[in-house]
Amino acid sequence: MATELKSYLAGKWRGGSGKKIALVNPSNEQPVAETSTEGLDLAAAIEFSRRVGGANLRSTTFAQRGEILAKLARSVGDAREELIAIGMANAGNTRSDAKFDIDGASATLMYYAELASSLGDSRFLLDGEGTGLGRSARLYGQHVFVPRQGVAVHINAFNFPAWGLAEKFAVSFLAGVPTLSKPASATAWMAQRIVERWVESGLLPEGALSLLCGPVRDLLDHLTGQDVVAFTGSGETAARLRSHPVIGSANVRLNVEADSLNAAVLGPDVALGAEALNLFLADVVREVTQKAGQKCTAIRRIYAPLEQLDEIRERLVERLSEVRVGDPASEKTTMGPLATSDQLESVRSGMNRLAAGAELATGGSKPLTAIGAPAGKGFFVPPTLFVKREPAATDALNQHEVFGPVATLMPYGDVGRLVELIAAGGGGLVSALYSDDRKFVSEVVTGIAPFHGRVVLGGEKLAGQSVSPGTVLPQLLHGGPGRAGGGEELGGLRGLQLYLNRVAVQGDRALIQQLFPARRSSP
Ligand code: NAP
Repeated sequence: MATELKSYLAGKWRGGSGKKIALVNPSNEQPVAETSTEGLDLAAAIEFSRRVGGANLRSTTFAQRGEILAKLARSVGDAREELIAIGMANAGNTRSDAKFDIDGASATLMYYAELASSLGDSRFLLDGEGTGLGRSARLYGQHVFVPRQGVAVHINAFNFPAWGLAEKFAVSFLAGVPTLSKPASATAWMAQRIVERWVESGLLPEGALSLLCGPVRDLLDHLTGQDVVAFTGSGETAARLRSHPVIGSANVRLNVEADSLNAAVLGPDVALGAEALNLFLADVVREVTQKAGQKCTAIRRIYAPLEQLDEIRERLVERLSEVRVGDPASEKTTMGPLATSDQLESVRSGMNRLAAGAELATGGSKPLTAIGAPAGKGFFVPPTLFVKREPAATDALNQHEVFGPVATLMPYGDVGRLVELIAAGGGGLVSALYSDDRKFVSEVVTGIAPFHGRVVLGGEKLAGQSVSPGTVLPQLLHGGPGRAGGGEELGGLRGLQLYLNRVAVQGDRALIQQLFPARRSSP
């Protein structure tokens, strides 16, 4: 029988009424869990978070919140095997995909726990130095960050149910703002199980974390100007949120993490036998196939010098052809299915869009026989590489994110044109450059930096110790301009700003310095 996923609202587990939504195993399409949010009182849930959770959190210091975060991180680690099994059954994750999600969750919680201990017993942050305002030294002003008195509504995408929950929650919790987290319905089981463990542990202050498993319904109608919405998902849903009447009229703070056409560039200086080439090939193959390409940071556009295009194509095809697609329950499988039937349809139609004017080097949209899956069942696609010999800014590959194991290889000659084509993606989360030619690196980085949240530099000396560009690190910003949503998350203390109100306090220097002593760090 399918597990019923209840929501944790106003301090209690609550099941919705009416017809339930089925969560399925994407390898065989069998239901694994079900949920409903029909009939739940979301206005009361939001009010409880604000009133009870907000007061409880604001009575704790950064260091106390950090101690709790460390214990929550360990709780995720302790349940690793159980959570891996959920990721395999509900999200089509291979064991290694599931570990990436779960370990990313506990590492991010632990990073913020450690950051909290460096902030000590304070409850606010200073924003830089104070400043004199007049002839006398007495007249003074200081910018200060204090927690907003609302609720942080976190709306997450289906692809990282553990990490998505944790990376957002760690930051709002540390900032002192209660959270209501809403995982994507299709893969909510993992987030639900983590929150269930946290609630059972008794570690969370009452009201500090609520969970909504299933459709969002009227949730956003109850928000006010002290609340924050941190959204991760498609550009289309983001556009709906931006035009939501309450978000607009109440000036609810909204952070959007959306689509991205991330690029990887092989520099002209990288020889065919070089370590930097191996790094480039390994990163591209990992980013195309990990989580079946369902990563917002996955590499979608690959650029190689014109004279090396055919060699790079051959090497990528060779490596991608070694990938074994199937049910992650089989040990032979190295890449699982897409998470839902909607994703399968969307990826197949996206492939057809990319195919216009491009050569198919490997893969494609035709149904395949997947290891360990019942015939005709499961949402499988093979790793797919297109080659576009004469790319243009208006090509579908610069306009449309295919959220699966799909990328396009292109040649470049002129550096200015390369920069133009990367920028044609309209703003992205991360792009990577593999080169030790400083002039080339400088020109490309200067050209693409305004269009990205993160730029990764890989070269000969970093081979063997670099982190793949698709790995989001809590120390560095996650987000990007334009198509990527214009949001910013993580980045150490910077991430807290979303949940804090910056206020300028003006008056007597001695009083202000007593109220807000200068030993606090600023984001
Ligand atoms: P999605 O369809 O936009 O859904 C994202 C979330 O929004 C889900 O929790 C969904 O809930 C919720 N939602 C749907 N309609 C809503 C509405 N009208 N109001 C409020 N919430 C609503 O995206 P997805 O298919 O889960 O994720 C894939 C996309 O996310 C890709 O485009 C990918 O690039 C992007 N993504 C971006 C990042 C990043 O950090 N930039 C990370 C991961 C994924 P239900 O599931 O209940 O419908």
